[in-house]
Amino acid sequence: MANSIRRYEGRHAVITGGASGIGLKTAQRIVSEGGTVSLWDVDADKIEAARATLGAASSHGIGLDVSDPEQVEKAAQETAEKYGKIDVLVCSAGITGPNAKVADYPVDQWKRVFDINIHGLFFCNRFVVPVMQQNGYGRIVNVASIAGKEGNPNASAYSASKAAVIGLTKSLGKELVSDGITVNAITPATVDTPILQQLKPEFIDYMLSKIPMQRFGKVEELASLITWIASEECSFTTGAVFDISGGRATY
Ligand code: NAD
Repeated sequence: MANSIRRYEGRHAVITGGASGIGLKTAQRIVSEGGTVSLWDVDADKIEAARATLGAASSHGIGLDVSDPEQVEKAAQETAEKYGKIDVLVCSAGITGPNAKVADYPVDQWKRVFDINIHGLFFCNRFVVPVMQQNGYGRIVNVASIAGKEGNPNASAYSASKAAVIGLTKSLGKELVSDGITVNAITPATVDTPILQQLKPEFIDYMLSKIPMQRFGKVEELASLITWIASEECSFTTGAVFDISGGRATY
């Protein structure tokens, strides 16, 4: 896992949803560049499997549900005590919710999508920012979606929750400029990860048809962008939204 690029030497990163997909590949890249990571994920078994790829010395795992503010606050305290700081927060935990038309959309599942994708993401920003403020340095990358800009049919809760992530990111980016903390969002089009198993096959076909490059993104491509935004190299950008979408929606 050694890498001649060492942007994360001495840095500690918290990655929510870090046990799978985009979060896991980002964790692997950060560790390969000299950093340590804490994986905050609801799936304890996947955390252990992920840590086996990262090495015990370079990683820590906390099983939690990001939608529970008490669990998130406790995890922030535990991580700060163990590592003395949190330099980077990547908020990648998320679910799609069902593919359903608005008149059929189950109200409880609408709420669950919001509980995880935006309330949970807010709780992680909310409880990690004070730790970063103590250190006068921080990089936050919130994983939104191109759906939050364009809207996807039959995915109203997901699209709306990701639009809220963009609004939160723009607000915090401005709010934290004096604290040495940048807050940016990325808006991927479809990426080949386990989350696609939550979707109907016809919806996956529809999303592919929307991408001018006519392919899905790869986790390696996502990790490359996230680890640039979350590094010291990206120092003059905050409250920004980065498309990574094969040409879909560039406004
Ligand atoms: P993934 O399913 O591989 O990873 C998501 C991770 O989040 C999983 O490990 C899961 O256990 C964790 N998680 C889910 N609910 C949680 C909770 N309540 N608390 C803590 N952890 C929880 O999917 P992925 O594609 O890597 O998704 C990562 C992020 O990227 C998500 O926010 C997703 O909405 C976003 N995104 C994905 C795509 C795509 O096509 N894959 C496109 C745009 C945006």
